Amino acid sequence: MSHRIRFLAGVLLSWAVVCAHAQAQGPLPGVPPALVEDIVVGSHILAEFGVLDGFGHVSARDPADPSHFLMARSLAPALVTADDIMAFDQDGNPIDARGRAVFLERFIHAEIYKARPDVMAVVHAHSPSVIPFSVSKAPLRAIYHNPAFLAAGVPVWDIAQEFGATDMLVRNNDIGRSLAAALGDKAVILMRGHGDVAVGPSVKAAVYRAYYTDVDARLQAQAIALGTEVTYLTVEEGAKADATNLMVIDRIWNLWKQRVQLQTSK
Ligand SMILES: [Zn+2]
Repeated sequence: MSHRIRFLAGVLLSWAVVCAHAQAQGPLPGVPPALVEDIVVGSHILAEFGVLDGFGHVSARDPADPSHFLMARSLAPALVTADDIMAFDQDGNPIDARGRAVFLERFIHAEIYKARPDVMAVVHAHSPSVIPFSVSKAPLRAIYHNPAFLAAGVPVWDIAQEFGATDMLVRNNDIGRSLAAALGDKAVILMRGHGDVAVGPSVKAAVYRAYYTDVDARLQAQAIALGTEVTYLTVEEGAKADATNLMVIDRIWNLWKQRVQLQTSK
């Protein structure tokens, strides 16, 4: 074998080793595939139940670098696959965009992860049932045990208070910071004339909370329409029920997951 051929074979071999290594690492080094799957499944679940439509997003804190987070490229939630999940830095800049479009409202996630070290996942939805509570004086409250996380209080954030007339979107870090400050230590915040954000200690918890916030809003409107006084969960009942719910969350998650997987296999 001539020197030249041996040299070319060596180059090809090194290149193959580099490619195999990149494949083994995956596009998101250090991120467990199960976490990526939770983001994908969570997006499909919320789309299936009409909590998310063509808009809205699910994210998770990046275990490889907890100042970073993971979310899909700009895409309707029902269409998200594992290949669409990207990493973002603490200010919401994509780590390796590779030409992919990113969500305008990624600053919601960036600023909440920065302000809340306990939060491991964030869902932003334009949940239809919730909108009336974002624009009226009726506070959203926990009407039964599944949305117990609402009993601690649900702040309403009005973008106009700090930023005047906008297109209503959280399109930069300043607006995201204002929203994160208004969320405080709560699980859910409503955004006036826009939607809501649910946070949690896991993707499953944030998805559960986004789903049951929508259900609670629907039921509360029905209870108010009955025209008599409504009895809500107290703060203490809410804290106790929320702790129980988080312990048994896999039961409902596995049911939802099976349902969306059956849908996609049809
Ligand atoms: Zn939005």
